[in-house]
Amino acid sequence: MKRVVVLGGGFGGAFTALGVARGLRAGEAEVRLIARENYLFFTPFCTEIVGGAMEVRHATAPLREILRGRASFLEAAVEKIDLEARRVETSAGPVEYDLLVIALGSATGTFGLPGIRENAHFMRTLPEAIAFRNRVIDCLEEGSRMPKSPERTARLTFAVVGAGPSGVELACDLRDLLNDLVPRQYPDIAPLEVNVKLFEGGDRVLPGMDSKLSWHAEKRMKKKGIDVRLETQIRGYNGREIALASGSFVRADTLAWTAGLAPNPVVAALDVPKDKGGRIQVDDFLRVNRHAEAFAIGDCAAFVQDGHALGPEGQVALQEARTCAHNVVAAIRGGLLHTFRFRRYGRLVSLGRRYAVTELFGLRFRGFFAWWLWRTAYLFRLPGIRNKVRVMLDWTLDLFFPRETIRIRYAGEHAVAMDAASAPTPASVKADRPL
Ligand SMILES: Cc1cc2nc3c(=O)[nH]c(=O)nc-3n(C[C@H](O)[C@H](O)[C@H](O)COP(=O)(O)OP(=O)(O)OC[C@H]3O[C@@H](n4cnc5c(N)ncnc54)[C@H](O)[C@@H]3O)c2cc1C
Repeated sequence: MKRVVVLGGGFGGAFTALGVARGLRAGEAEVRLIARENYLFFTPFCTEIVGGAMEVRHATAPLREILRGRASFLEAAVEKIDLEARRVETSAGPVEYDLLVIALGSATGTFGLPGIRENAHFMRTLPEAIAFRNRVIDCLEEGSRMPKSPERTARLTFAVVGAGPSGVELACDLRDLLNDLVPRQYPDIAPLEVNVKLFEGGDRVLPGMDSKLSWHAEKRMKKKGIDVRLETQIRGYNGREIALASGSFVRADTLAWTAGLAPNPVVAALDVPKDKGGRIQVDDFLRVNRHAEAFAIGDCAAFVQDGHALGPEGQVALQEARTCAHNVVAAIRGGLLHTFRFRRYGRLVSLGRRYAVTELFGLRFRGFFAWWLWRTAYLFRLPGIRNKVRVMLDWTLDLFFPRETIRIRYAGEHAVAMDAASAPTPASVKADRPL
């Protein structure tokens, strides 16, 4: 029996493993999915978790349930891929393969700016989203008992860097959360004391979208009370102050970084042709160059279409997973491989409660209808009926009830101290380090 190994349990890996397993007859090959976590995280809901519009586990689906026994699952960290020996080194030992699919995603990049990695919050994984939400609630709790001072203002200032879809959605969901919570639950804080600032180096928000929609999004954000600062480059962050390229400083004790991408470290260590972003170059069939037995898809692969490499998007990973699964089955049976072609259906960006901007099948929408489209589109993409129902209930409850401020600390986790410099949260580590 051929051994098919799929690395990564995100959109690319999970749906390739499922597609291959579905396409094979019993006994034709053995399919194994390897991922660090035992769940698929639905990243478009990352900022909804921060905003408290959704229960944490509802944005995930168990990988074993997705595979439904058709393929086996190994929860382990991939440490090294040896393409010559056809072996993957993992934290659970070596795994040999005949056909390999690399779908390890990407990591957060910081352009080497000082202090960002140490002091900023990242927004790629579920634990990162939970940590950021907890940090926001901690800051409200502390800010409410601090005397009026520049320190209190800094504690109640939340900066978001990057005005791509993730940064814009985060700033909007965060502003909604604060607008909802502060007047109801924090009588010691005046609503105007709480600031959300969005920093963007370019001259508009949502640069990938139609310029009119970008303009509407910016206007909407300002109306919500977000301080949008365009053409503002960040030079570094020490946990207390954001250093701007202009030479000035902005005080903020919390900064969320959504601005950069870096290759997954395992992919970075792989000696194969890559693009300038460190993504694996693949051929028309999604195969790694010079390795017909290895495929790469999703954020860690650079598929060139019409002269441009496709961007790191969930819809790219999902479509690639379909073609990749077909090609793996075809490779096992000696059949014809399909060439991959990406079809863009649209772009959807939520601007918080009941408002979104959307491009769908060439049409542009904004407002409540766009937001309804946004929700419906993502609801359909969620795997499993249980998740769909849970998320639908979360959204319905969010329409009628205020958001909550429960901050669950896990055993061994500490609260942020009043003196942030001594606190063990990412935003306070090395807080006094000079920029
Ligand atoms: C906050 C946020 C919001 C987004 N919103 C949208 C959106 O609205 N629409 C859209 O189209 N795209 C969106 N994206 C982009 C989209 O999530 C990615 O393009 C997509 O997830 C890529 O799929 P993937 O399978 O390549 O990687 P991922 O989904 O990142 O999956 C990578 C998998 O590999 C695993 N892994 C990584 N390293 C190791 C290792 N060493 N060992 C074992 N396992 C490992 C990870 O745990 C994960 O399971 C968003 C991304 C983020 C971060």
